[in-house]
Amino acid sequence: MELVIEDLSKTYPSGVQALRDVSLTIPTGMFGLLGPNGAGKSTLMRTIATLQAPDRGSIRLGEIDCLRDKEALRRVLGYLPQEFGLYPNLAAEVVLDHFATLKGISKRKERARVVSALLEQTNLAHVRKANVGGFSGGMKQRLGIAIALLGAPKLVIVDEPTAGLDPTERHRFLNLLSEIGQNIVVILSTHIVEDVRELCSNVAVIAAGQVRVQGSPDALIEGLRGKIWRRRIAREALAEQQARHRVISTRLIAGTPEIRVYADALPEEGYLAVDPDLEDVYFHQVTAAAAAAAEAA
Ligand code: ADP
Repeated sequence: MELVIEDLSKTYPSGVQALRDVSLTIPTGMFGLLGPNGAGKSTLMRTIATLQAPDRGSIRLGEIDCLRDKEALRRVLGYLPQEFGLYPNLAAEVVLDHFATLKGISKRKERARVVSALLEQTNLAHVRKANVGGFSGGMKQRLGIAIALLGAPKLVIVDEPTAGLDPTERHRFLNLLSEIGQNIVVILSTHIVEDVRELCSNVAVIAAGQVRVQGSPDALIEGLRGKIWRRRIAREALAEQQARHRVISTRLIAGTPEIRVYADALPEEGYLAVDPDLEDVYFHQVTAAAAAAAEAA
């Protein structure tokens, strides 16, 4: 089964064009949607989740025409939005039981079985009777995933799920995602490149409402081979280098800036060739999109 998005466009009443002819084919497994803040990720996620309508375009999940048959899509959808509220004074198992009822699991015994299984799967069984108001960020996100997994969805969307999690919680959350993402379509929307590199067999980079590239991380990285160069420089030299070359990123290495430059050949003496990584793919696309926007303005 595939999620096929074709020519999706959306302009908000404010005039912001959040999506421009977005086309993506997303197979089963984990798909990473990478983009900076304001790229249009949430707009795309909300549109796929049938929470808002596009101006143009189509979305199909297998046989389902998602924009026409919203109910059919919602029956197979699990959605973990960027922000969601939970009643703080309710126990985790009560919250989950409540959502299970909403999802149409009407038999009490079956609900109890499903709730227990999901609490186990998300590693929350030991706190099932604790109020969710006292949960850490990671525990809340895992409960969010448990809610999203109710009703055995075929499509799961998670929007910026690791923001605010500490490294241990983040790791646990990503492991959980990778376990569920075997036979269904899971879309992970994020600006954190590392999350995607670890988990996703396919990725797309979106910037300024447009899909810039899509493919497997390895293929995208390979496409940059021989084109990424690095150099340690003094802080004061940054502006000059930026004026001369396409600087795609600046990393601090023990307090000294190291810049990465995109160029077909050695930019100048002092630069070293590097093995590109997924961050280079991301920053190359994001800076190219910004340069194109600046030129158009
Ligand atoms: P991302 O999730 O990648 O940060 P968004 O989809 O939230 O991107 O936003 C894309 C663009 O659309 C941004 O410029 C944002 O300000 C704008 N935008 C998002 N939601 C709305 C809205 N409800 N009304 C008007 N503009 C919006």
